[in-house]
Amino acid sequence: MSKVKEYSAMTKDKLMLYTFVALVIIAAITSAMWFGVTAKDPMTQAPIGMDYGVTLILSCVIAVGVAVGVDVLLHKVAADSPLNIMSAAVFGMIVALCYSYGEPSMRAVEVLPLLAPQSFMYVALITLVGMVLFKKLQGLKGRKYVNPAAAAKLLVLAFVGIFTVLIPSDHLSTGMLGVPSLAGPIGYEVISGNGMAPFGFYIYGCFGNPSLTITGATQADIVNTLLLQKFHGWAGGASSIAVILVGIALFAICRRYIKWRITVAYLATTALVALAFAFAFGDPDPLLRVMFHLFIGSSIFLAFFMATDPATTPLTYLGQIIFGVGLAILTLLIQTYMGFFGGSILALVVMNLTSPFLDKVGKLKPTPEKKTPKLPKAKQFAIVKTTDCIRCGACMRVCCHKLSPILIKEAFDKKDVNKLAKLQADLCDGCGHCTFVCPARIDLRNSILRAKAMLRQQ
Ligand code: SF4
Ligand code: SF4
Repeated sequence: MSKVKEYSAMTKDKLMLYTFVALVIIAAITSAMWFGVTAKDPMTQAPIGMDYGVTLILSCVIAVGVAVGVDVLLHKVAADSPLNIMSAAVFGMIVALCYSYGEPSMRAVEVLPLLAPQSFMYVALITLVGMVLFKKLQGLKGRKYVNPAAAAKLLVLAFVGIFTVLIPSDHLSTGMLGVPSLAGPIGYEVISGNGMAPFGFYIYGCFGNPSLTITGATQADIVNTLLLQKFHGWAGGASSIAVILVGIALFAICRRYIKWRITVAYLATTALVALAFAFAFGDPDPLLRVMFHLFIGSSIFLAFFMATDPATTPLTYLGQIIFGVGLAILTLLIQTYMGFFGGSILALVVMNLTSPFLDKVGKLKPTPEKKTPKLPKAKQFAIVKTTDCIRCGACMRVCCHKLSPILIKEAFDKKDVNKLAKLQADLCDGCGHCTFVCPARIDLRNSILRAKAMLRQQ
């Protein structure tokens, strides 16, 4: 029997399990809210497509099934493909929850099918592409550069040949039902800058319950729609309040390992920039624009559950804050000037590509002085399961000499002596805190002590 070892209680599998449970709770709330609601034929008003609630449940089952199935299959055919069922299940849930469902009254063209059963095929396709190309193949490069769910969805959109042409014009842009441009004044009552219906009316017509007849919308209707219940767009963001509450609970449980600073920076910047746009465009009620950018489903769900993906985001605190700020600014620009309201997904992939550079920003300055950090509670493990680094950054915060253990290990694996010297690996005193907190159970201490020995031999 293997010797009992002591580590912090958090493991990669546990992190994935907590995230999976959080996503299931969000899916259950949305399904309950959507249960009994169907789209209507605009001419006959007869129900079309499948019940929204049932659609979401089946989409989640399909996406999780495909993701786990691909994971198991690849593990069987390729010996070096690790079995990571919980991570695959989380990925499947994210794909299902970042898919757009529900038909708004001003839909002009169908970018991806909004209604079941046609939507099921695309949910399965995005999951398949994401698992094979962006989780497994990208993982072979040693680190993931782009968020697998976001990249797979964008690739499928591009593949069907309509990405650049159709997305900005997927809603009517003329007539009373038309969608006002955000690059002009918007309000509840006033006709917006481009002569369209009031923006408040658009929000209600787009995201409101299709079972209701819409003649107008009060401020209370808009707040209720954006905060509590949307019936179109990303399923994961249908209830902003649910996302915020479940997200905060997850962050509190996994605070050392989840990059919640990205979410805070993203939401704060979104609010500030939207407010600046509202004043610049002369909106009668600046809060309408702020609420729209904060609580549209693609924004709120992405802020809590996709932008914080540890593998594709910066390791340092400052890098994470810059990442969140950049993500918010890019998203607002895409939504305002391209008319692509789900633009946060494009902004996320662009910002992911900056992570290797942002990893270098805000690294703590190594010091020979020793300061013992506050460590999480210890737990004994009889079996220690080692996995790949998830880039949570936890090891960077517990080194008593402010070293960057994961970066030193990477430099050591590449035998990059210059980098090891720059990272001051020689200051390591072998305390082992970095190994203790690592949820992937990587023996950082051992690698860093060997790196130190390598430096001495130079
Ligand atoms: S083992 Fe070395 S690198 Fe790891 S926390 Fe201790 S001093 Fe820092
Ligand atoms: S090596 Fe560091 S960044 Fe990677 S999983 Fe372990 S603690 Fe997180």
